[in-house]
Amino acid sequence: MASLRAHRVASARFFGIAASLRRWSSSGRDLYDVVISGGGLVGTAMACALGYDPHFSNMRILLLEAGHRKVIDRLPEGYSNRVSAITPGSTTLLNRFGAWDHICRMRLKPFRRMQVWDGCSDAMITFDREELEDMGYIIENDVIMAALTRQLEALPKQVEVFYRCRAVGYTWPRPYHIAEANPWVQIELVDGRSIQTKLLIGADGQNSIVRATACIQNIQWSYDQVAVVATLHLSEATENNVAWQRFLPSGPIALLPLSDTCSSLVWSTSSGHAAELLSMDNERFVDTVNSAFWSNDSHSEFIDSAGSLFQSAVSLLMPSGYSARQLPPSVAKVDPKSRAMFPLGMGHATEYIRHRVALIGDAAHRVHPLAGQGVNMGFGDVANLSHHLSQAAFIGKDLGSVRHLLAYETDRQRHNLMLMAAIDFLKRLYSTKEAPFVLLRTLGLQATNLFSPVKEQIMMFASN
Ligand SMILES: Cc1cc2nc3c(=O)[nH]c(=O)nc-3n(C[C@H](O)[C@H](O)[C@H](O)COP(=O)(O)OP(=O)(O)OC[C@H]3O[C@@H](n4cnc5c(N)ncnc54)[C@H](O)[C@@H]3O)c2cc1C
Repeated sequence: MASLRAHRVASARFFGIAASLRRWSSSGRDLYDVVISGGGLVGTAMACALGYDPHFSNMRILLLEAGHRKVIDRLPEGYSNRVSAITPGSTTLLNRFGAWDHICRMRLKPFRRMQVWDGCSDAMITFDREELEDMGYIIENDVIMAALTRQLEALPKQVEVFYRCRAVGYTWPRPYHIAEANPWVQIELVDGRSIQTKLLIGADGQNSIVRATACIQNIQWSYDQVAVVATLHLSEATENNVAWQRFLPSGPIALLPLSDTCSSLVWSTSSGHAAELLSMDNERFVDTVNSAFWSNDSHSEFIDSAGSLFQSAVSLLMPSGYSARQLPPSVAKVDPKSRAMFPLGMGHATEYIRHRVALIGDAAHRVHPLAGQGVNMGFGDVANLSHHLSQAAFIGKDLGSVRHLLAYETDRQRHNLMLMAAIDFLKRLYSTKEAPFVLLRTLGLQATNLFSPVKEQIMMFASN
């Protein structure tokens, strides 16, 4: 008797919800299965991942982007100053929906080795791929964006895109059913239109409005640093297949290959120093960059001697771990007008999901560019979330249900938090000139450099 009553209550509840869902679907307001708010690199990749998934072929997907449509009709001769180091894991995602072919047809520069060294000692670490495999690719952000946009536009109908269209407000449904209450997320657009969706994906960047209006806490701090970027011309043509990074006490400086003769600079430093770097003339800027890579002014004799003693002792035990130090190329010229700066900080959303909401990319996590991981982490979010949503769509489950969104949050927080902690630790460890810390990191870096299995693990983790 009791079980019959329970069954009746459950059926009434089910049909009540179903009726309410139907009512709202046919209410005349535009209802989408998925709305992605923010069409940066990560949001546009998400739209492609869902648009090319056969399980979404009968669904309505909308991408909202406050900015304009970004395509490249003719590739400019000069390189853009905004580039990203893209991992093999990210290329797998881009390949899944055809964007990688476009990127290869436009331009990219593979790198096969990374050399990272200390500005206060001779300690260094190198990462190599065996058998001439690529470790990663340096690609202009504009090129990735143009490839994603082309693939999105090649889709016949599944994905609509509203450019120059900012979402200005969100109204959240209750996580439980209430008769007559709207079960979907309501989105107010800047032009006064109102739409609704079963699942809202917040890809609206580090100052995410989705995250703020959902009252999701964001743990954040500023590094009091900015990144100075520029396009540089090398003194002579080389194979240029190494990504270089030196940890100076003021912050890391990186030289990333673009072609045999050009590299991209990312120099993280204090705002005062950055302003100075932007205002100096081209010649002095080039001298300052060369000296940042070559000068040993911050070295101490004691640490250099301790470091070389330790290096000799450990290489006796592990002779196979030794890797030769290479000298970075020298810079001859900077592209006029390519110098610019961007503020740096770290931020992490304590939750990536709520009922009918998921955060991806910089909306969920923001990292220092020293490890070149920001957009790669975002692409990792896209691969993981689209996988869980695809499974839900295949078995006809509610896309906005916390159940499978939770699986996404667990997977990604596990990965992202470890990476963020490692990046933040490195940033702090290398920000000091204090001798005990310099000695500690010198010995640590040398030991890690000689121990190949640890390097393999680091490479594997960072390339996914
Ligand atoms: C100097 C520098 C170097 C870097 N180098 C690397 C690197 O080598 N490798 C790497 O992996 N990462 C790197 N990063 C990090 C990487 O650039 C970011 O992680 C990545 O661009 C974040 O992409 P996103 O799409 O999540 O966010 P964003 O790029 O911030 O995109 C958000 C989008 O949302 C739109 N938007 C915002 N609000 C709304 C709204 N209300 N309605 C509609 N649209 C909205 C915006 O117009 C924007 O297009 C670097 C960062 C910096 C600063």
